[in-house]
Amino acid sequence: MIRFLFSCLALLFVSSSSLSAAEKPNIVVFLVDDMGVMDTSVAFLTDDNGTPKRYPLNDYYRTPSMERLANQGVRFNNFYAMSVCSPTRNSIMTGQNAARHHATNWINPWQNNKGPYGPPNWDWEGLDATDITLPGTLRKNGYKTIHVGKAHFGPEEHAGSEPLNLGFDVNVAGRSVGAPGSYYGEKDYGNPKHKNKVPGLKKYHGTETFLTEALTIEAKQHLTDTVKADQPFYLYMSHYAVHAPFNSDPRFADHYKDSGKPKNAQAFATLIEGMDKSLGDILDHLDKLGVAENTLVIFLGDNGSDAPLGHQHEVACAAPLRGKKGAHYEGGMRVPFIAAWAQPNSKNENQQKLPIPANVIQSQQAAVMDLFPTILNLTDVKIPNGHKVDGRRLDTLLTGKSDSSRSEEFLMNYPHAPHRSDYFTVYRNGDWKVIYHFYPSKQSDGSHYQLYNLKDDPFESTNLAEEKPTVLRKLMQGLVASMKAHDGQYPVSKDDGMPLQPIVP
Ligand code: CA
Repeated sequence: MIRFLFSCLALLFVSSSSLSAAEKPNIVVFLVDDMGVMDTSVAFLTDDNGTPKRYPLNDYYRTPSMERLANQGVRFNNFYAMSVCSPTRNSIMTGQNAARHHATNWINPWQNNKGPYGPPNWDWEGLDATDITLPGTLRKNGYKTIHVGKAHFGPEEHAGSEPLNLGFDVNVAGRSVGAPGSYYGEKDYGNPKHKNKVPGLKKYHGTETFLTEALTIEAKQHLTDTVKADQPFYLYMSHYAVHAPFNSDPRFADHYKDSGKPKNAQAFATLIEGMDKSLGDILDHLDKLGVAENTLVIFLGDNGSDAPLGHQHEVACAAPLRGKKGAHYEGGMRVPFIAAWAQPNSKNENQQKLPIPANVIQSQQAAVMDLFPTILNLTDVKIPNGHKVDGRRLDTLLTGKSDSSRSEEFLMNYPHAPHRSDYFTVYRNGDWKVIYHFYPSKQSDGSHYQLYNLKDDPFESTNLAEEKPTVLRKLMQGLVASMKAHDGQYPVSKDDGMPLQPIVP
């Protein structure tokens, strides 16, 4: 009997230790607002041989911590986000394409901004407390879920404005707004009357602490507390940087003063560098806490670049890519993505399950909704029953291999106006990309279609819509089918208010 009791106790001991924090991987999602794939000193684009190729913007920006992360991990150069903030954010939370969750525009906190002919039932209200979310699912499975920075999941006076309603245990500085009132501590990050004031952080008010730094200090403290409590964590480190207002970060301003770039573009570069310092600080802190080898860091942007370097439809802000945030071109939706264990160690059990090679470039397509199934699988948590997920697991791609089971498709639906591009849907399949512009539309080229071969013409210089009618038809059929499969919403006709249907030629 005594022996039996002893065995039971031993069994209890084994089963509880197998659930200990040491064996569950920690996850850091490091999300940068309005950062495109070219806003970094890390070269993501490659030449025809797949070798990283530097462009002038890579030599303008300074991101040594991103270089450090990229050197110990895998980076993707065909990684897609939605073209504006909330659609991407809610896709990370739900694993669904914005075409499905229907928060297809940035969420204006104070009024429904569907636009004159936007779909009446789009999801302006964003996430609510009953929605299945990534942090909510992780929390149910023993994770401490920490939100630091920008939320922008839902409007004012709705449940989605508060991350604590959406599965997070902790919320530092997140609310309904997408931009900070100010990055300056001296200005209290937006004074009390500022519509976009950043909540919390009162202890930094009146100090010289830049917002990016204050968020980093807070994140580190929550990591320390969580590790002390021996709990695995999901840190959603969501910087307000590098979103406008382009407040120059005085710590880095000297690096850009002789660049010849406009003042705003210099300030933008200081925001990038401050964000990068934050990444380095977090990596160092994970080391210090002794959890680095058990922590997967996923770095990404939430939409294309918003660098103030030129017109949104030109090759300027994300050069050599065309376009910027909000636009239908690649510069509008291609974002940096890097994944690495914070401290590589091939003997670590979690790393053996997901071995990420050093300094590798992955060129297969992937997108923001892929984080949800990837993170749940890695943490051994099941996708809740009945929850529809569009994202696909990235496991194979993260190991640097190709995954022939993935279709090389991406759908991006923006049935709204006014923005930098109005009422459009993008569908990419393999090397081909079609952009359908709905009527009414403010597009000045007068065409309903743009068609590009991104292999031959990665910078979208030549519209092949008239020259390649067969390809155009095939791509448009694919677009319509994909929209149908996602239950996507179209703009409505200005004549009768009925949903517009794309014209397949
Ligand atoms: Ca954004």
